[in-house]
Amino acid sequence: MSPKLKNCSNCGRIFVDTGLGICRDCHEKEEEEMQKVSSYVRDNPHSRVRDICDALGVKERLVMRMIREGRFVMDGVAIEYPCESCGTLITVGRFCDKCNRDLQAQLSQQQQKLAAQAAKEKVSGSKVIRSLDMGMKGFR
Ligand SMILES: [Zn+2]
Ligand SMILES: [Zn+2]
Repeated sequence: MSPKLKNCSNCGRIFVDTGLGICRDCHEKEEEEMQKVSSYVRDNPHSRVRDICDALGVKERLVMRMIREGRFVMDGVAIEYPCESCGTLITVGRFCDKCNRDLQAQLSQQQQKLAAQAAKEKVSGSKVIRSLDMGMKGFR
């Protein structure tokens, strides 16, 4: 296989992609910045993403990626950032507990609806399964 040439998604330079999506220079710079963020968070536990960006001049995107990759959890520090849904400050995952519960409820509701719809479509006209359906309704 010949190496793939790509534009660095960070600086736009053409480079040989090794699966990082960004060029070597940018990758090295990011690693350096991540190191800085890691040590900053260790010194200032429970910092907010904004504080880190302001203090170090790094991109919020980078800090968020580190959070998603679980870097801070590995370091044993908590960093606070807003829930993607309601903005409550959280330290793990993408959503706060409440939104997680809401999402779960929404998801299972949607699944039930889809399942019911699929069942209806499959059996339209069939008496046997319709009576089964009614039995289930009575059961609920
Ligand atoms: Zn680059
Ligand atoms: Zn939330």
